[in-house]
Amino acid sequence: MESSGGALKGLRANNTRQVLELLLNEGPVHRAELARRMKTSRTTITNIINELLERNVVLNLKPEHKSTRRGHELVAINPLAGFSLGIDFTLDKAAICVSDLAGSIVAETILAVDPSNTADSRVAAAAGALRSLLDDAGIEDSKIIGVGVGVPGQIDRRTNMVGGSLPGQPWSMVDARSVLARHLPFQIFVENNARLEGFAEKQWGTGKNSENMLYINFSSGVGMALFSEGQLYRGSIGAAGEIGHMSTDINGAACPCGNRGCLVLRTGTAHVLSLLRPALGEAADWNDVLRETANDNRGCLTVLAEIGSLTGRFLAGISNLLDPELIVIGGELAQTGDPLMGPLTAALKSHSLPLTSSHVSVVQAVLPPGAATGARGGAALAIKEMAKTSTIDKLGTP
Ligand SMILES: [Zn+2]
Repeated sequence: MESSGGALKGLRANNTRQVLELLLNEGPVHRAELARRMKTSRTTITNIINELLERNVVLNLKPEHKSTRRGHELVAINPLAGFSLGIDFTLDKAAICVSDLAGSIVAETILAVDPSNTADSRVAAAAGALRSLLDDAGIEDSKIIGVGVGVPGQIDRRTNMVGGSLPGQPWSMVDARSVLARHLPFQIFVENNARLEGFAEKQWGTGKNSENMLYINFSSGVGMALFSEGQLYRGSIGAAGEIGHMSTDINGAACPCGNRGCLVLRTGTAHVLSLLRPALGEAADWNDVLRETANDNRGCLTVLAEIGSLTGRFLAGISNLLDPELIVIGGELAQTGDPLMGPLTAALKSHSLPLTSSHVSVVQAVLPPGAATGARGGAALAIKEMAKTSTIDKLGTP
């Protein structure tokens, strides 16, 4: 049987962990608020904070007003008590960043990657670039709390295997964690890269104040991050969010995934480009689409209105099903702005049920689409996930 002293020690450790988790997830909090949220006494909070101040893991923030009453002082995580890493692998890029514990980016870089490279050589290149970033910033490995890594595809959390739904992709049927662990001597958290961009948007973008949010990334692939009561919903094995492979037409074109008429075949950037090339020229790329849309090119406006309408109708069904308060449209397609967003929002509002329609907001993502945002999301995810592991107990200890 555990002694009462041991039980008290365990309770104290648990409370300390909860204080740190709260500060890591929510930023500076008043001492009185900490006591209220943890349903414990001010004295207990003071004791915990004093221990954490001694370990240099938290800081007392100077009050804004001299008259601030006792208990109202703000406590914050010491941003330099540890560092988090993020890496995001897209088909032709690897973005890498180093973040402090408050989520500020200390260093970042992007590597161009040959699309034919294997997963292993991509990770080796990213690990080399990461080593230079850490050396230049003078950050020792012992200060790293973990690395959040984004890869394309579904990831089976039981085996860490990336799903094989898109044959020929460098990560298809690869044990992502083993490949990453060969080159990165840190605690590793793997997630789908569209979901990492969604995570960044939830943390720093339009989703900051939304607990129930859908983020959909329309790029070459179409993926979703669903946040339910503030938490990323991963499903039973981590594979949730593949909205791009929901069928919009059972008689539609065959998709490499094996389904027909998938949303990605009708809203992915490759399809949008193929629709617009007769008007913009066969060599047109995505930058041409963005420029010509901004110039009110009638072909661009017509195609984007049709895609917006289709997407809005589709998302109306998803909204009826999931009841989000906010839908964030991200990815390269979202950069076309109003010509897409206007018809999309109108269709979503008119095709969803009245109660859902009156409540849900639709907005364009504010963070730029792509690997750099994915890497930032990875660093943020590593902080959040680390807070659930024993690493949180070691913060600030040499
Ligand atoms: Zn498909």
